[in-house]
Formats: sequence, structure tokens, C-alpha cells
Amino acid sequence: MRVYNFAAGPAVLPEEVLRKAQEEMLDYKGTGMSVMEMSHRSKTYEAIIGEAENLLREVMGIPANFKVLFLQGGASLQFAMVPMNLMVKNKKADYVNTGAWAKKAISEAKKFGAVKVVASSEDKNFTYIPELNSSEFSNDADYLHITTNNTIFGTRYTKFPDTGKVPLVADMSSNILSEKIDVLKFGLIYAGAQKNLGPAGVTLVIIRDDLVGLAPESIPTMLNYKIHADEKSLYNTPPCYGIYIIGLVLTWIKKMGGIATIEKNNNEKANILYDYLDSSAMFKCPVVKKDRSLMNIVFVAPTVELNEKFAKESDKAGLLQLKGHRSVGGMRASVYNAMPIEGVKKLVEFMKNFEKTNG
Ligand code: PMP
Repeated sequence: MRVYNFAAGPAVLPEEVLRKAQEEMLDYKGTGMSVMEMSHRSKTYEAIIGEAENLLREVMGIPANFKVLFLQGGASLQFAMVPMNLMVKNKKADYVNTGAWAKKAISEAKKFGAVKVVASSEDKNFTYIPELNSSEFSNDADYLHITTNNTIFGTRYTKFPDTGKVPLVADMSSNILSEKIDVLKFGLIYAGAQKNLGPAGVTLVIIRDDLVGLAPESIPTMLNYKIHADEKSLYNTPPCYGIYIIGLVLTWIKKMGGIATIEKNNNEKANILYDYLDSSAMFKCPVVKKDRSLMNIVFVAPTVELNEKFAKESDKAGLLQLKGHRSVGGMRASVYNAMPIEGVKKLVEFMKNFEKTNG
């Protein structure tokens, strides 16, 4: 039996994708082997990784002057790879501090150059996205870094800063493919795969051509974007199976009607939860309305006991992983692309009953 899995990541995948992987597990398209057993230098695998890239380009509308890289090391390695590769001309970068992941990105970047935090929402425990004032931006920054969706605090950007000539770099780990974005606004986008893309172990990097090849010679080979761009993510053994699953997820998105349909569904799902939260006498969403995430919906009950009781009882009811991050407390429902609307409806129904019984 499948449960409703509200985990923040690794997270729910479309059932159709899992079934397809199951169907192809022992014999991928007549090769007599699993994708897991296949040489990454084989023609069959080249087609798999090529197809994943092409689908991503099509679904996200990635222009030809951007490279798509499938790497390893998680978004956490990108916290270092971004400055190692891009913070090279003036050794300066601007960062926006919108929560725990942004902070980690900032502290890694500080190892490689001068970081200016141009805005922060720490004063209110990251319950909003700060206004970005371009007069604060450094004209000579090598890039400006934002976290488009804050997985722990449940906030998201609904508009992106205009950084002029300074490249905009974005950690999109928890909302990539969840709504339409204009890739052209960005110099570099990165994301760990384990939320909307596929299984953990793959890190996606989308990088504009002119930002490839800026790193000094001294950079370790595996940390140089240029190597991976030149070798089409096959410099060494890539996370082969994960990339194959990403291809299946993208096929599913395309079949669903592309990002437009996904975005519509995500809005619908999030609205069901937020509407209830705003009408509830027990549960509250601490995030300001205009900055609420479509992917990670945080909410709290009035007492520690009620929060604990809720986490325990929802689990028993087949609504899993709703306990919030320790820095926010309360609950967090991660409702990524693959979470069916029925899961959200079930959750709201459960919350209503919980409120009635315990209110
Ligand atoms: N950035 C964001 C926004 C995240 O949500 C996460 C993980 N949840 C990370 C970075 C770190 O990703 P990883 O575990 O892939 O290193």
C-alpha cells in the first residue's frame, strides 16, 4: 500500500515513474540488463542521458546558450563550486539570506572571497522574503545568489531581482520544475534532485556559456564546471540510474501537460491547505501571505503537546513525515509535484477532525 509521503526530500515520486522503472528493471528495452548495470559509455546509456537533457531543455525552456550538467555532491557541493568557479574576477559576491540553506551557501562562499549579504529576513525568523533594493547590490560582484524556495521556512520568491550585468545564481533545490521560470534571467541554476527531479545522488546545474571556464587552473578537476560541460557530464561515471529516473520524471511532466499544468496543480494544492490554515482556529501558518511556498507548507498548533500529538496521529493515519524542522517547530507538509491532490485533501480533512477533537 502506498502512503501519502509529505517528506521534504528525498520525497514522493510519481507512481507512474516508479512503475515504469519497475517494468524496465531487469531488462531495459531488450538490452537484457538493468540501467544500473550498464556502462555509462554505451550507446544505450548515451541515449538515456541525452534524452534526460533534451526533455529538461524542452520542459524548462532552456536556451541553447546554457549547458545542462548532471553532477554529484548535492546542492551542498554547489555552495562551494559556485564561488570556486564564479567568484574569480573581483572575488566578491552578493547573497540574500533567507534561511538555513542560504546561510550555508554564504558560509561556504566566504571561504573564497568577500561576501556581502544584501538583504536578510532573519529578524523575523525567515517568515518572509526581504525586499531587494538594487542600490544595495555591488556593481562589481561576480554574481548575486538567492535561494528561490526555502525548504525549512516555507517561503518562496514570486519575483526575481534584476541584477543587470551581474549574473543571478539560484539554488532551486526545492522548487525547480514547480512553476514556470524564465531561465534567461539566471546565469546559473542548481538543484539537488531529491525533491522534484528524481532520486538523491544527482545534482543538476544549468549554466550560461559565458560562465563556464572562468575557474583558475588550480581548481580540482571534478569541481570545474568546464570539465563537466566539455564532457557532457560523462567525464567520470555519473549517477547513471538517478539520471535515468530524472528522464522518466520529465516524461511524466510532459505527459501531464508540462510545467503549465504542474504549476496550476501546485497552486490548487497549496491553496487548499493555505485556505484552511487561514480559517483555522487551531493551526497557523507563520509565513506572510505573498511569500508562501507552493512546495513546503509550514504550520503550527498552539502548544508543544498538540504539535507532537498531531505529528504522531497523522503518521498513524498514513500521512507521513509531517513533523516540521526543529528550527521552526510545528509541522511542514511538503507537497512536491508528485503529491496527488487527494493527499492534500486527506491532510486537510485530518486537520479538521484533529481541530474538532482537540480544540
Ligand atoms: N538547498 C536547499 C534549498 C535545500 O532544500 C537543500 C536540502 N534539503 C539543500 C540546499 C542541500 O541539498 P543536498 O542535501 O542535496 O546537499
